[in-house]
Amino acid sequence: MSGAETGWVQVAGLGPGDDALITDEVRAALTEATDVVGYIPYVNRVAPRPGLTLHASDNRAELDRASHALHMAAAGKRVVVVSSGDPGVFAMASALFEALEAGPKEWLDLDIRILPGITAMLAAAARLGAPLGHDFCAINLSDNLKPWALIEHRVRLAAQAGFAMAFYNPRSKSRPHQFGKALEILRAECGADCLISFARNVTKPDEQLVTTTLGAATPEMADMRTVVIVGTAQTRRIGRHVYTPRSAPVG
Ligand code: SAH
Repeated sequence: MSGAETGWVQVAGLGPGDDALITDEVRAALTEATDVVGYIPYVNRVAPRPGLTLHASDNRAELDRASHALHMAAAGKRVVVVSSGDPGVFAMASALFEALEAGPKEWLDLDIRILPGITAMLAAAARLGAPLGHDFCAINLSDNLKPWALIEHRVRLAAQAGFAMAFYNPRSKSRPHQFGKALEILRAECGADCLISFARNVTKPDEQLVTTTLGAATPEMADMRTVVIVGTAQTRRIGRHVYTPRSAPVG
């Protein structure tokens, strides 16, 4: 058999942080891999071993990383591309398909698989209780790959539609003011009493969970290690827990 027939790419989610939340399927892929590709902190979560080459790259290099992985698979390597959480949620799975679309036709024959992981919003929701227990949506607040005006539009419409919402990449040093704008929109559409939870470093040793109201929330409560969950008009506290009931009122 030629090398090209044995190569593969698997895009794997490492979950939110705790190794107990890595699936057996992802562990098996890492055991069989010859090469692991990904953003530095995620590659650092993979134990080195003889026969495994770790390729850690910078954050914004997603497309280069994806085509590097495809090139190596075409040359017969067994490549795992690692993402945090789930690889299909604001992560490497779509980047891999973008590179596939832009690449040579022969790549279409490659053995490519996406291995799911536990995404930050589901890990955070589980810690909080069940804030996403009714209809919900996930919005990436980073405007690296889309205009900020579109983000504002989606936040407003999601709030008007009564979805619970999970916000990824809420606030970074390079865009400190936009999250404040998102909070203003949410306050205007959902009201000051609506619950909002800030879940930082979920499942990691320094995990922090804070639930407050939109009226009391401030932009500084979020950073790039935080996933933010905003409830619906029905979302409430029960004891230490936050939950959204399964049914919505009629009318
Ligand atoms: N693919 C990842 C998301 C990548 S985008 C996933 O499925 O979880 C990066 C954003 O994810 C961060 O800015 C933050 O909003 C969120 N995030 C990732 N891991 C997190 C964690 N352990 N705790 C809280 N938020 C997290």
